[in-house]
Amino acid sequence: MIRPRVALACVVAALAGLLAVAFGLGSDRAAVDWSAQRAVVLESDDWGLAGFVPDGGAWEGLERQALAPGRFPDVYWGSTLEDSAQVADLAAVLAGVRGRDGLPAVLQPNYIMGALDLVDGRWRESRLPDLPDRYRRDGLWPAVDAALAAGVWHPEYHGAWHYDPALRRERVATDPLSRQAAERGILLFEGSEGAWELGPWRPLPVLEAELARGIADFRRCFGRPPAAVIAPDYTWDGRIETLWVDHGLRVIQGKREQQHPRRSSGAPGRLLKVLERRWSKLTRPGLTYLERNCRFEPVQAADPAAVTAACVAQIRRAWARGEPAVVETHRVNFVHTDPAVAALGRDQLAGLLAEVAVDGPVFLTDAEVAQLGRRGVSARPLADGRTLLRNAARSRRAVAVSGTAGTGLVMLPAGAVVVLPAGSGEGPASVPAEVDLFD
Ligand SMILES: [Zn+2]
Repeated sequence: MIRPRVALACVVAALAGLLAVAFGLGSDRAAVDWSAQRAVVLESDDWGLAGFVPDGGAWEGLERQALAPGRFPDVYWGSTLEDSAQVADLAAVLAGVRGRDGLPAVLQPNYIMGALDLVDGRWRESRLPDLPDRYRRDGLWPAVDAALAAGVWHPEYHGAWHYDPALRRERVATDPLSRQAAERGILLFEGSEGAWELGPWRPLPVLEAELARGIADFRRCFGRPPAAVIAPDYTWDGRIETLWVDHGLRVIQGKREQQHPRRSSGAPGRLLKVLERRWSKLTRPGLTYLERNCRFEPVQAADPAAVTAACVAQIRRAWARGEPAVVETHRVNFVHTDPAVAALGRDQLAGLLAEVAVDGPVFLTDAEVAQLGRRGVSARPLADGRTLLRNAARSRRAVAVSGTAGTGLVMLPAGAVVVLPAGSGEGPASVPAEVDLFD
């Protein structure tokens, strides 16, 4: 018979062992030396979002504070959908700086795929590339195509709506001010701050249908599935991560920022979050969690130049710690109803990139960082069917490439950066672009 104290000791020892495994095996082991790589990743949320307002006049005659949407930085009152000029201007800034591999800086715009618009008292739904009439942006998609072709635009997934559509419909039906806002194409409504798209109250089958549809729309818009995702408002739970994995998403951005609305914000809640982060890394080996370790939100600050200087320092500290520098920078920095705000953000970004370029960085996508960390090699799909291969390991690596011309091996010397042409006809140019290096 086991005495109670012995049993308790066994349980404690087992728990301690479990935690040791979680912390030990869960620690990050990269196949590359990230200090030597000096990698910069630019993650930018809210692209494609038809909001907060369609244009600069949207608030005229409306008491926006009384709408009580929740708290956010003031600059967001003028946040709007990007237009062709803003995309082209930002693409030019990115193209103006090169990494040591000769390739330009690449931005990852994380896209919201759908919008609801109240027209003549009825809700109308649109899905990218279609947009509500109030958010019509002539020439937007050709500008995006040009940025894709220039290799400076690498879209990833943000969400279906950026809010719970059922809650928005309900508030607009019951709150007169929310209704007036919706009638003007304003996305905000009473309490919208807490109406999370991935809130724990939302039924899983609904979320799964939204995700499947969002990914299908993404494929149609950009010609490939997304590999990385950031949850709207950083709010999600374990069941959502399972959905993401099931739908082919391999990289989760911003795990450290994850919000658990039903959890205490005190020490126990924080400890639970740390343990859960470790546990997720251990139990979801097919996923890569990429932490945002640099912050670049200059247009929210009284001293934008100080934000830029701080971000440069954060990038260098990330490299010194042996991490890729993952920079968070929202759309509002480059897209605004006040052109001066967007110009300020672009200028600060140009300054940031110029400063960092002195150190000879490489600009990578989330998927490349994930693949390099696992295998030392990576494949990035480029526009027009080409594929960018990298070997950041210390030795030669072989990459299996398969497609219409069959299967073959491409040998990559250490440090190699190679562009495979699109598959077409015969000869070397027929090497297809199907390379999956995640597993
Ligand atoms: Zn967002």
